[in-house]
Amino acid sequence: MFVDILKSGAITVGDNFTIDGHAERNFRVVTHFHSDHLLQLKKSIQSCIGIIATPPTLDVLEVLDYDIPKRKRIGINYNIPLKIENEKVELFPAEHIFGASQVVISNDKNEKVGYTGDFKNPGNGTPILDVDILIIDSTYGKPIFKRRFKNEIETLFSDYVNDSLISGPVRIYAYHGKVQEAMKVLRKNGIDAPFIVDGKIKEITDIAIKYGLNVKDVFSTKDEEAKQIIKDGWYIEFKHYNESKNRDSKFSNFILSGWEFNEPVKQLDKKTKVVAFSDHGDFDDTIYYIDSSPASLIVVDGGRKGYSKELAEYVRKYLKRKAITLP
Ligand SMILES: [Zn+2]
Repeated sequence: MFVDILKSGAITVGDNFTIDGHAERNFRVVTHFHSDHLLQLKKSIQSCIGIIATPPTLDVLEVLDYDIPKRKRIGINYNIPLKIENEKVELFPAEHIFGASQVVISNDKNEKVGYTGDFKNPGNGTPILDVDILIIDSTYGKPIFKRRFKNEIETLFSDYVNDSLISGPVRIYAYHGKVQEAMKVLRKNGIDAPFIVDGKIKEITDIAIKYGLNVKDVFSTKDEEAKQIIKDGWYIEFKHYNESKNRDSKFSNFILSGWEFNEPVKQLDKKTKVVAFSDHGDFDDTIYYIDSSPASLIVVDGGRKGYSKELAEYVRKYLKRKAITLP
């Protein structure tokens, strides 16, 4: 089956599909709502017949100002194939942010091509795709990107937040999707301070809750109750990562970053910690995925930020597998 990755980041598969970037195909698949997977989406909305994603991803795209006409919205749930001409598209879970998926395209000769999108926890939350050609993300494609502390980070983060709440309100800065992962982790670890959200973060959190995120006591700054909560000073406010440069020393600030590998928590200034809280697997997870994959060819995605050449070389040399990088 035809496979290519364009310089623009579009992954083109078979006759009908382009994934996570724009190309002249009938259908655009969106694996998840992070911006590096929404490349030229407006163009695809104009010129493709349909935009395929999980229902929560399609809902969040609306919040992010992608106006998809109803007739072009093709929401499909995990593990339910959709037939289009002589090909089939099927989404599989990816543990990354809510609604995230892996994609498999197959044809009537039973050839299968899969793309992982972004993921962590391969073999558990992220099933290993049963495909002939595997296209894999290369964000952490070099051996230096290992998080030795990845199993402890969630409790460590929760403990720090809990301690900080004693001295006043907490602000957590993270990208869309990771905000909701952080909420889940804090509640799981028994942190029951109210969550305060606003703007797009509120709208996206509402969507996550609608699709099953089990997080209680989330308030909008516009709620009457929120005013009293803010006055009391015992709460956790969530903000977008990009706002962390305007942080306020009245708060204990936590910046969640995927690019910390040396230590789990770094003190940035008196009131600010950077936490190595990632929604991506590290280098070892990427290698584990490839090693477990039955694919006869590994295609490393070089269309986004990452280390595709290094990863493909490592896979050829140490795993003795056929691997190429595209574009
Ligand atoms: Zn992502």
